[in-house]
Amino acid sequence: MSRYFKTAMLFLLVLGLWCAQAWPGNILTQVSTIDALLAGAYDGQVTIGELKAFGDLGIGTFHALDGEMIALNGKVFQARADGRIVAVPDSLTTPFAVMVFFEAEKTLPLPSGINLEALTLMTDPLLPSANLFYAFRIEGAFETMRVRSVPGQTKPYPPLTEVVQHQYLKTLEKVEGVVVGFRCPPFVRGVNVPGYHLHFIDKDEKSGGHALEFTVANAVLQWDEISNFHMMLPRDPLFSRMNLEKDRQEELQKVEK
Ligand SMILES: [Zn+2]
Repeated sequence: MSRYFKTAMLFLLVLGLWCAQAWPGNILTQVSTIDALLAGAYDGQVTIGELKAFGDLGIGTFHALDGEMIALNGKVFQARADGRIVAVPDSLTTPFAVMVFFEAEKTLPLPSGINLEALTLMTDPLLPSANLFYAFRIEGAFETMRVRSVPGQTKPYPPLTEVVQHQYLKTLEKVEGVVVGFRCPPFVRGVNVPGYHLHFIDKDEKSGGHALEFTVANAVLQWDEISNFHMMLPRDPLFSRMNLEKDRQEELQKVEK
């Protein structure tokens, strides 16, 4: 090996280490895009086992859109179409998921009686930036928690706006548990959900789903600021040939609220 080659390799190694340190912060990992999901790309792409390598907290769905995903403390749960929660095997796959290794940077006790909308209005001005990602973990007691889940689909997959017409809805009362999810910046339109996207699991790991509305009784909010983004796009024919030029913000409003 020439001296120059060795020097060059040493330089690259030092540069690599410097870069790794110069760009700190947590990494948000995402499977597929929200628009692909809206358009019916429900085939699982990444196994839950693989997904766990990218985070211990997160949200998403499962192959064939079979329920809502809640990842908490490194465990992955499925809120099934009847609202029941089950722990999922690592072999199950996901067509859309968002994960992070959660490190609480801020802890904020919430006023009792605050609902989801009031919580976003209270939290937004407190966040250091509207243009970064935030992971949330809200643990405690809730007066009410309105959740939804979706049933698994068969091919040809209908778009998500059609599926949610048959969604499961339930309002849990006086329930303890954890809300997990993300606040994404406005520029993620088409890629992820701008604003808040939260899922709930009760403390007995029995019921939960996509959180549509809630009222806090006694809970603490924690957030983790994220400035790195890692995206895993499907390489299957369904995604590859999908037309993703359309603006689907209106569809997103229909399925998220
Ligand atoms: Zn959701």
